[in-house]
Amino acid sequence: MTENIRINNPNVKYTDTHIEAQYCYHTSAVRRDGDTLTVTPSVSELEFRTERRVPRLGVMLVGWGGNNGTTVTAAVLANRLGLTWRTKTGEQKANYYGSLFQSSTVCLGPGPDGKEVNIPFRDLLPMVHPNDIVFDGWDISSMDLGSAMERAEVLDWSLQEKLRPHMSCLRPRASIYIPEFIAANQVGRADNILKGTMAEQVEQIRADIQDFRHSSGVEKVIVLWTANTERFCDLTAGVNDTAKNLLAAIQVDLTDLFSFSFTLSFFILFLCLYQSGGEVSPSTLFAVASILEGCAYINGSPQNTFVPGAIELAVERNVFIAGDDFKSGQTKIKSVLVDFLISAGIKPTSIVSYNHLGNNDGMNLSAPQQFRSKEISKSNVVDDMVNSNPILYRKGEKPDHCVVIKYVPYVGDSKRAMDEYTSEIMMGGTNTIAMHNTCEDSLLASPIILDLVLLTELCQRVCVRPQGSETFQSFHSVLAILSFMCKAPLVPPGAPLVNAYFRQRACIENIMRACLGLPPQNHMHLEHKLQ
Ligand code: NAD
Repeated sequence: MTENIRINNPNVKYTDTHIEAQYCYHTSAVRRDGDTLTVTPSVSELEFRTERRVPRLGVMLVGWGGNNGTTVTAAVLANRLGLTWRTKTGEQKANYYGSLFQSSTVCLGPGPDGKEVNIPFRDLLPMVHPNDIVFDGWDISSMDLGSAMERAEVLDWSLQEKLRPHMSCLRPRASIYIPEFIAANQVGRADNILKGTMAEQVEQIRADIQDFRHSSGVEKVIVLWTANTERFCDLTAGVNDTAKNLLAAIQVDLTDLFSFSFTLSFFILFLCLYQSGGEVSPSTLFAVASILEGCAYINGSPQNTFVPGAIELAVERNVFIAGDDFKSGQTKIKSVLVDFLISAGIKPTSIVSYNHLGNNDGMNLSAPQQFRSKEISKSNVVDDMVNSNPILYRKGEKPDHCVVIKYVPYVGDSKRAMDEYTSEIMMGGTNTIAMHNTCEDSLLASPIILDLVLLTELCQRVCVRPQGSETFQSFHSVLAILSFMCKAPLVPPGAPLVNAYFRQRACIENIMRACLGLPPQNHMHLEHKLQ
């Protein structure tokens, strides 16, 4: 089902190449004077311009041979081929359930009969269809994608049999492996690794991107990290604090140091690197390579890939970056449930989340440093909601929030998440909600991977002319509109960090509506509320 939308408004123009929309952006500024808050509404006139032509999109996955990498590739192939397969409960057809754009709808307004007209989210603006994405990628494991899909144990066997001929010919490119960043238990699969200095490896990743672009004929490449969770990287002045220092640190690889002639600046950098252990993680090296190739880079894992130097490099080069960590299961529910509780005036006082999973991600997370990355990423998710309600929480007060993850091989990819939310209700009452969630982790993450790349690609075709300006601007390099799909959203400096599910979703919907000159969805239905 595909819908063609045409906006009937003189403020919206369709040219052969663009949709041009005049848009009134309403905001309010608030000032406190003593005990009075003065609210000043304002309107600015913006022009949104969206390129209509959808490019041929290539997506390169770091960790292509993992559970997510193989599952998303298999799902796209199965959808493209229109595959069906037998399960013990009947015939199953390939679909994109779990994808915001492919499987959820937005309301355009009432039709002639007064009933709401809902369309697929993806039809609001011209977007790449996931069936048309060409995949490539890297993995430290050399296993072909057919065998890796079998190793993942995610998809039904009869579907795997149909997909294997298409998957087995796909083989990940050799990758950057610095053992200390991921768990020691991963060493057994690392048989496909690049050699050489950090600088040489970054050059090879850049060459891979160029090779993929040329050999596949894609017009645009987006790189997404879905490899193992790394431990956090130390932030060190002189090493990864600025773009210049980060690029220099990559050049001065400790392992290759003595091939350089020593200038004073190299000597100072050497000292910084030596003291800090020369911290540049593989994921940051991938980010740098992608940014230098002008390719958007998305981080689907929790680690701090985007050190200040990487962010500065992206801003300097006007390349989109986004992350961190796919918001797939437990955290997604948390960002719904806590939003509901706090916005209903109920006070969550304790949130305890247990997980157990048995896939390779779970095995990697069983190591303390990698677990710590995940724990940090999962922990801050309620902060914006808590801070928004000073009636329930004193300044600095927070609910107790505990996250436990255990590796239980038997359950494989079928992750268990058990949560207990305890809240204070009226007059000292207590409300406890306990939840048990069983779900194939990679089948939750795969549609999110698709949404992330499709929205990033769309954002690359949108620009905005602010009121009074002659020139159009693109979105900020830190693509915060992707927050909806991320557990720990990266936002531009000073920008509000939003985790609340419905605010994040409304942000995407309303920005896409703005591109069509449509006002934000307000849900007022005033036409039905007056006498
Ligand atoms: P996985 O272990 O099955 O796959 C990761 C792959 O990355 C493996 O094939 C591994 O060989 C490869 N790898 C490790 N280091 C690499 C490197 N330097 N370069 C290239 N490849 C490398 O894990 P998964 O279940 O696919 O999850 C992938 C990532 O996504 C994990 O970090 C996980 O925490 C994150 N994540 C997953 C979900 C989910 O629901 N599945 C949700 C949020 C975040």
